[in-house]
Formats: sequence, C-alpha cells, structure tokens
Amino acid sequence: MKCNFCGGESSSVVETRKLDGGSVIRRRRQCSSCEKRFTTYEKMRKSFPTVLKSGGGTEDFSREKLSKGVSKACEKRPIGEEGVKEIVDSVEAAIADKNVTTISSEEIGEIVMEKLKAVDQVAYVRFASVYRSFEDLNSFREELEELKTD
Ligand SMILES: [Zn+2]
Repeated sequence: MKCNFCGGESSSVVETRKLDGGSVIRRRRQCSSCEKRFTTYEKMRKSFPTVLKSGGGTEDFSREKLSKGVSKACEKRPIGEEGVKEIVDSVEAAIADKNVTTISSEEIGEIVMEKLKAVDQVAYVRFASVYRSFEDLNSFREELEELKTD
C-alpha cells in the first residue's frame, strides 16, 4: 500500500472500519517515512454488483473505466490525481454500500455526479454532459445557466 504523499512502501494501520455489508474495508494508514495519514478502501471484488448497461447487456464493474471517466471530467481542474482517486474510492464505496447484485450504469453515473458536484462544479458539468440523456438536456441547460451566474 503506497503512501499517497511520498510513495513510501510501508505504512501502519491506524483505524479499520467495515463499511455497510462488510464489502468495503476502510483503513486509515500512517506512512512510516513521512508520517502523513491517508485512507485506503479495500474491497471484496465479488461483492460488486453487475452493471446493467444502458443499451442492454451486462458487464462487470470496472474501476478502470470509472477512473477514466472521472479523470476526463477532472482534466485541468484543480483536483489532481489524488483527488480523482478519492472520488473513485468514494463512488466505489457508495456502490458497495448499496449491497445489491445489479446496478444500472445510470445509477453509477448519478453517484459519480453527486460526488463530483460536491468537489468541482466544472468537472460535474463535464461528466453530466456525457452521462445525462437528451431528455435531461433542459435541466442540464438550466444547471449550466445557474453556474454561469455564480
Ligand atoms: Zn509518506
């Protein structure tokens, strides 16, 4: 488990907590070199729900795919690699917390949007513009207008 700050390879566990259903284990760790603390989420792969794709069919939940979408939305925003990782972690934890066997890709999109909205409005809008369907375009426009007047 590499340190998020200095890349140090050794750390000690300060606190361990199981998130709902025990499918995700959150650990607070302290780096042995720089002594900074960071959080890791470890999950039991099997407990992730199968993703129902919007066009039909199913696929396994993919952290890589999720990361790609989030990093794309966060491009050139003051979020950084670490911030992206944190968002992805929290999305994963939220999915695992649902304790369901299937989840739609829309539901995942909604969770991501919720997390992004709290972190960075521009990243949120970028992500939303990719994920939201055309039916939602009006509410999306309204949201854009709201952002412009900030
Ligand atoms: Zn460190």
